[in-house]
Amino acid sequence: MNAEILAVGTELLMGQIANTNAQYISKRLNDIGVNVYYHSVVGDNSVRLKKCLLAALERCDLVIMTGGLGPTQDDLTKETVAEVLGKKLVLHEESLERIKTFFTRINRKMTDNNVKQAYLPEGCTVVENNSGTAPGCIIEDKGKIVVMLPGPPPEMMPMLDDTVIPYLAEKSGYRIVSKYLRVFGIGESQLEEMIMDLVDKQDRVTIATYAKDGQVTVRLTTKARTEEEGFREILPLQNEIASRLKEALYSTEDEELEYVAAKILIDNNITIATAESCTGGLISARLTDVPGISKVFNRGIVSYSNEAKMENLGVKPETLEKYGAVSSRTAMEMAEGVRKIASTDIGLAVTGIAGPDGGTDEKPVGLVYVALAHSLGTEVRELRLAGNRNRIRNLTVLNAFDMVRRYVMKLKG
Ligand code: ATP
Ligand code: MG
Repeated sequence: MNAEILAVGTELLMGQIANTNAQYISKRLNDIGVNVYYHSVVGDNSVRLKKCLLAALERCDLVIMTGGLGPTQDDLTKETVAEVLGKKLVLHEESLERIKTFFTRINRKMTDNNVKQAYLPEGCTVVENNSGTAPGCIIEDKGKIVVMLPGPPPEMMPMLDDTVIPYLAEKSGYRIVSKYLRVFGIGESQLEEMIMDLVDKQDRVTIATYAKDGQVTVRLTTKARTEEEGFREILPLQNEIASRLKEALYSTEDEELEYVAAKILIDNNITIATAESCTGGLISARLTDVPGISKVFNRGIVSYSNEAKMENLGVKPETLEKYGAVSSRTAMEMAEGVRKIASTDIGLAVTGIAGPDGGTDEKPVGLVYVALAHSLGTEVRELRLAGNRNRIRNLTVLNAFDMVRRYVMKLKG
């Protein structure tokens, strides 16, 4: 497949902005084996745009256009393309809804000319825009493909990467194959440092890292004729990264940490009981999200008050008195207590200050103890987490599952 990139915008011709879109799109097309034969630029003028488009369709299989999808009068790309291809513009309800939602989100009033953006050529594939209002589209007509994307690079780039490239890769006989390596316990910048040399020399297999909710994902991507072939090509790099990340790498299958931890318990038939204070049952809830957990999950106790910690878990009054409810000792006794009461292989407990109130200088908001009691003893992890209540509770849950997973891995050698 060969392609032309047609940028629309008088600003480009006047030298006010550089045509960085063409460069970006060219690189991406090259990745999937599409040959780019022409770059062209035309102003916001319907007659000249028409001529350019006809010429592009004459000499290429694929035309990717950017710019002129906005709501104003000078934005005339869609109208012109529709006219050249003899297609009607029809209202795309879903896009209209998305545009409305977008305006609500940024707290601005939507004007009538924004509705214009939801009109798309009949029979097209819509390319969602999550960073702006104008949707893009892919039209297939008489053996040719025309793609229209908005001009602003922050909108154009993700739309191209997430929708257009996978679409075209399939057409060009290739597909984009990705592996997701999920990491816990190493921050994004530290991780980047650990694999910097690999990132610098990345070639056919590209590396991208994303951080989200205290976790990092490394994406390895390549293009291949089949998924199997792609995975085979990714494997050496995947193994190299895995050997550097060691136990911090918890999944190569894009699975959630709680799922991986629950699975490892089920697969090894290790029984568990939990005692939760600041997470209020979140750990139990996540465990019970996983089918088959009943085989190993005995009970979860929410022991929010000191009385509950004493009555239901056997935490000693002296411990609470001397060290306080949020302490390493209390966490240990909670974990040991629940393990004993439930007669399970492991007892998992958390106690902490999720905020926003209740912190002191000595014990600030975000101070959390996670304890894991097992046959070899009791481990405690002290956490000093930042963020709001929700984030602190979520990170606590992740740390708890991380401890479980690392323990079972060590146990199994
Ligand atoms: P909008 O809804 O913002 O009007 P649009 O799809 O109509 O988007 P244009 O009006 O053509 O796009 O361009 C909007 C902005 O996008 C330009 O001011 C410029 O900053 C950027 N832009 C447009 N075309 C390109 C390009 N080819 N390369 C880099 N940036 C571009
Ligand atoms: Mg515009």
